[in-house]
Amino acid sequence: MIEDKNQQRTQLSDLGEFGLIEHLTKHFKVHHESTIKGVGDDAAVLKFDNKKIVVTTDLLVEGVHFDLSYVPLKHLGYKAVIVNLSDVYAMNATATQVTVSIAVSNRFPLEALEALYAGIKTAANIYNIDVIGGDTTSSSTGLLISVTAIGEIEANEEVYRNGAKPDDLIVVSGDLGAAYMGLQVLEREKEVYKVNSNNQPNLEAYTYIIERQLKPEARKDIVTLLKELNVKPTSMIDISDGLSSEVMHLCHQSSVGCDLYENKIPLDPQVISTCEEFNIDSTTVALNGGEDYELLFTISQEDYPKIKANPNLTVIGYIQEKSAGTHLVTRADTKIELKAQGWKNFNA
Ligand code: ADP
Ligand code: MG
Repeated sequence: MIEDKNQQRTQLSDLGEFGLIEHLTKHFKVHHESTIKGVGDDAAVLKFDNKKIVVTTDLLVEGVHFDLSYVPLKHLGYKAVIVNLSDVYAMNATATQVTVSIAVSNRFPLEALEALYAGIKTAANIYNIDVIGGDTTSSSTGLLISVTAIGEIEANEEVYRNGAKPDDLIVVSGDLGAAYMGLQVLEREKEVYKVNSNNQPNLEAYTYIIERQLKPEARKDIVTLLKELNVKPTSMIDISDGLSSEVMHLCHQSSVGCDLYENKIPLDPQVISTCEEFNIDSTTVALNGGEDYELLFTISQEDYPKIKANPNLTVIGYIQEKSAGTHLVTRADTKIELKAQGWKNFNA
């Protein structure tokens, strides 16, 4: 939120397009044998021997998906990669390469793009990804970032959204709702800052939820864990839009119903306390908040002993026959039909 007035500002036009691309990408290392040719030619060249390949892409638009008044560019670069890797892991695949395309207005100096690329590079190193290309162009106003991720799947290891069967257990990694509550805190601080720019916010009570909003992680570790546990999910999806809509995607595509249990939904204590402070229902936040980037999957009952002791995994419900519908069983033991978005009547 606090702008450094002494920051150096190098005009992008000083470098030219090719100089800029070279400047931004020269430090990227190649991690994968499948990357034959990365940045620098007309196209990248990849070679996957007898593997199935997954491809996924996401476009992030300033003012729609991010607000640069509180999102540092380094974090934005990191998150732009992470949201795509999350989709690759949701296929039970290994992410290997990304392309990064940007459209920038002359409002942004070179130093801003260096920060963006520092975040992209950090994500690439941590998740073992090659940045193999992209495109660079100008925009009349804001910043746009489009990332495409590529991954590989071992024979028959892919997991789709459509394989859930009645009696399967519904499992989620990590905890839910934190990214949404982090956003609420950041939005509130932005309003306070507008009124008094000398106000230095004390955000100590919100470190976890703010980090979940600004610097999410993709659950590569869960894909590895499931392999180690010898559990192949029957269906899987990543939670980008909120538990409710993702469960409904799984159920719809698998032609099944479900019962989710409100008292099983994993919540961090900071989510609970911040929900109390904002007077928001924490279940509504977990169901509809979004941007958690956790994995939601179903497993057959016989795999339950393999996952039950794991602190990263929580069973939150069961798959039912399609005719049973999609429901939340509340703490008061009543059944409420799940809605894809918003859930206005929950407290009524
Ligand atoms: P073309 O004119 O054929 O689109 P470019 O000059 O845009 O080629 O790209 C040259 C090389 O730089 C290509 O390998 C391309 O993938 C890569 N590249 C371009 N922009 C970016 C970017 N923002 N990030 C990473 N690589 C990029
Ligand atoms: Mg180009």
